[in-house]
Amino acid sequence: MKTKFDINTLIRNNIKSIKPYSSARDDFKDATTDEMVFLDANENPFENGLNRYPDPHQKDVKKSLSKIKGIDEASIFLGNGSDEVLDLIVRAFCEPNKDNIITLPPTYGMYGVIAEINAIENRKVLLNNDFQPEVKNILEQIDSNTKILFLCSPNNPTGNSFKVSIVEELLQNFEGLVIIDEAYIDFSKEQSLLSRLEIFPNLIIVQTLSKAYALAGIRIGLCYASKEIINILNFIKPPYNVNELSQQKAIARLQKMDEINNEVAQLISERKRLKKELECCVSYIEKVFPSDGNFLLIKVDDATKRYNELIEYGIVVRNRTTESLCENCLRITVGVCEENQRLIRALKAIQ
Ligand code: PMP
Repeated sequence: MKTKFDINTLIRNNIKSIKPYSSARDDFKDATTDEMVFLDANENPFENGLNRYPDPHQKDVKKSLSKIKGIDEASIFLGNGSDEVLDLIVRAFCEPNKDNIITLPPTYGMYGVIAEINAIENRKVLLNNDFQPEVKNILEQIDSNTKILFLCSPNNPTGNSFKVSIVEELLQNFEGLVIIDEAYIDFSKEQSLLSRLEIFPNLIIVQTLSKAYALAGIRIGLCYASKEIINILNFIKPPYNVNELSQQKAIARLQKMDEINNEVAQLISERKRLKKELECCVSYIEKVFPSDGNFLLIKVDDATKRYNELIEYGIVVRNRTTESLCENCLRITVGVCEENQRLIRALKAIQ
C-alpha cells in the first residue's frame, strides 16, 4: 500500500466510543448446562433444544470454516446472510450524510440499497463493455470521504470475474476498504482472493452459504478480513445474529464437502450445456455471456416480451433490461437437468 493503512482512521467516531452490549453468554462462553446453572439470560429453563440463546460467536461454525478455508477463526465473521454483513460494514465505517461508497454497475443491487438506507452517497462508476472495472474512472471518483469500494467477482448479473491485476491495482491505490463479494466464487474457474488478505489490510472478502453450499434458507453470510476489522464487526453486531438452527445446519453441511463439490460440478457442467444449447438453437438469443456463476446472462431481442412469454410456460427468470449495460438482458439461474430442459423447450417454443 502507498501509505500505512490504519483502520482507526476509517471507523466512525460514534462507533469508536460505543460500549458494546455484553450478552449473558459472553461471560461464560465455554461452560455447559451440565456443569453450571444458567440463571442469567431470562431464558425459559424447560429444555427443548432451542430454549437457550445461541452461541453469539458461532465458534463451532467458524472452526469448521477455518479448516475448510485455511483462515484463522479470528479473521472470520458471520452474519444473517451476507446482506447483514454488508450492512454492518457500511454502518461501522460510513458516516451518514457525509461519507460515500463506490459501486460498479451493473452489479448486485443491495450495495446501493444499503447505502440509501444508511444515508450514504453511492457513487456509481460503470463497468466497461467487457464488464471489467475502469480503474482510472474509479480513482477519479475517490475523495477523502470515500470509505468503501464494492467489487463483486464473479459479478451479478454479468457473471464474469474481474481480472486479478485490476483488483490488485484498486487495492493498492485506494486507501479505504475494498470489499470483494465472492458469493459465486465456488462456480468460478478463478481462485478466491482469500490468499491476499495477508497482503492487503484494507481487503474484506464476503462469501455466503446461500449459493454453492445450498443453504439460502438458513441465512449465513461469511466475512473474512484482518482481526482488527472483524473485531469492529463483532463489536456492533446484534448479539445473537445467527440463530441456533442455522448454526446447527451449517455445521452439518460443512461436514459434507464432497456432496457440495459434487453439486457444484454438476451445476458447472449444466451451465456449459445450457450455454451451448442457447447459443446454437434459439434464434432470438443474440448473446450468451461467459459465466463464472451459477447463472447465465443472455441478451435477447426483447427482454420484457421474452420474460412474459416464459412466465406463460411457468418459468421465472430475472429481467435485467433496466440495468446499465444490460439492455434486453435476462439472467437465468442454472437449475437441475430437468429444469434446464424445460427452460430450453420453452425458449424454443416461443421463437
Ligand atoms: N452478494 C451477491 C453478489 C448476491 O448475488 C447475493 C444474493 N443474490 C448476495 C450477496 C446475498 O447473499 P445472502 O443470501 O448471503 O444474503
